[in-house]
Amino acid sequence: MSVIAENIAGIEKQLHGKARLIAVTKTKPIEVLQETYEAGFRRFGENKVQEMTAKYEALPKDVEWHMIGHLQSNKVKYMAPYVSMVHSVDQFKLLKEINKEARKNDRTINCLLQIFIAEEETKFGLSEAEAREILESAELLSLTNIKIVGLMGMASNTDDDDKVRQEFRTLKNLFESFKAYEKENVEMKEISMGMSGDFPIAVEEGSTLVRVGSAIFGAR
Ligand SMILES: *Cc1c(COP(=O)(O)O)cnc(C)c1O
Repeated sequence: MSVIAENIAGIEKQLHGKARLIAVTKTKPIEVLQETYEAGFRRFGENKVQEMTAKYEALPKDVEWHMIGHLQSNKVKYMAPYVSMVHSVDQFKLLKEINKEARKNDRTINCLLQIFIAEEETKFGLSEAEAREILESAELLSLTNIKIVGLMGMASNTDDDDKVRQEFRTLKNLFESFKAYEKENVEMKEISMGMSGDFPIAVEEGSTLVRVGSAIFGAR
C-alpha cells in the first residue's frame, strides 16, 4: 500500500463510519491526485476554482469535487458544470450566483453555509444572525437550482482542545436549530467540520464531512 493509501485508511478508521473523508489536495500536483484516485479514493477538496478546474479536467469524471475555499462570484461559472458541493457560502449574493450558473448547466448544486465559529478574525463565514437572515428570506425559495444541505465551520487554530470542542459544539447546536427552516431547497443533513489537527474531536461532536489535507499528503 502507498503512504497516501495508508494515511487515508488510518484516518477513515478514526471516523468510525460517522463522517466521510474529503482529501484536501490544494497545492498538490495532478500526479498526487492521480495516485490517490488509483488507490480508489474519489472525494477531493480544493480551495481555488482555477486550480480545481484544471485538476477536474485532468482526472476521470467520477471524482466528487468539493469547493472549500473563499469564493468570488465571478469564478462560480467555471466550476458550475461539475462541482459536487460548495462548502464556503458566506454571502447571499454568492448563493444567488451559484443558483444562476447551476441553472445554466441544468443542475442543482449542493451548498453549505459557512459559519464563523472561531475567535480569529481572519476566518471567513456568516454570523448566526446573517445565516438566519438567508434562511428566512423569501427570495431563497426562488433559488431552485441550489440546495442548502448543511453548515461548514473552522475551529480556532489552537492546542486548546476544549476550546475547539466548544466551537464545534456551537456549530452542531446551530445546525439543530436551523432544522426549523427546512423547506424544498433547505435540508440540514451535513456538518462539514474537522481538519488534520482536530478531526477526531469534530467527529465526536457530530461532523459528517471532515476536510483533511496535511495528515494525508504531508505538510504544504
Ligand atoms: C486547507 C484546508 C483544509 C485542510 O487543512 P489540513 O490542516 O491540511 O488538514 C480544510 N479546510 C479548509 C477550508 C482548508 O482551506
